[in-house]
Amino acid sequence: MRLLIVEDDRMIGESLQRALRLEGYAVDWVRDAAAADGTLASERFDLVLLDLGLPSGAGAGGRVVDGLDVLRAARARHDATPVIVLTARDARGDRVAGLDAGADDYLVKPFELDELNARIRAVVRRHAGRAEPLLSASGVTLDPAARRVTRNGIAVALSAREFAVLEALMAKPGAVLSRTQLEDRLYGWGEEIESNAISVYIHQLRRKLGSEFIRNARGVGYFVEP
Ligand code: CA
Repeated sequence: MRLLIVEDDRMIGESLQRALRLEGYAVDWVRDAAAADGTLASERFDLVLLDLGLPSGAGAGGRVVDGLDVLRAARARHDATPVIVLTARDARGDRVAGLDAGADDYLVKPFELDELNARIRAVVRRHAGRAEPLLSASGVTLDPAARRVTRNGIAVALSAREFAVLEALMAKPGAVLSRTQLEDRLYGWGEEIESNAISVYIHQLRRKLGSEFIRNARGVGYFVEP
């Protein structure tokens, strides 16, 4: 899953990016409203963590001056990317305004990482229209919280990247994801991508989960059977 952090505080941004990468997310980070607006208008993310108190930044022509504007602009473009707003403790008005501007949830700073992770999973789940926290298809079950995969009830050990590929495919059984779409979900900006990396992960997943579990849509991409 690919996340965007929008946060001007360097310490918070750095520690969030580091912590969320350790959770296996591809994480990009921008620091002002204009950069956030431009990035969201041109790239696809699975979820955005949005600080509301932001410098406006250069380049948006004064159209977006803070986090709330970024959110309103995204929703006005019909961009449905889930958004969790990050606000200061004493800013109840910000939380209300954020939710009313189209945020899916909020967290009050400072927050604990385990709560952030649980809220990310919950928001992604709701966005996908699921109530059930586990993903399952054809005898394979994936637990996003425990980061555990079983096949016919038996635990299967996966690398972080293999897990990320599998999670992307199992989030929507039957939906075909291209190699590029999978790369987008796995890698943040500036991360080196080996040209055959996705093929290697698919090969490993088939070896561990059965050769028929991940199917090819020839010339288009990969999917798992619903
Ligand atoms: Ca801020």
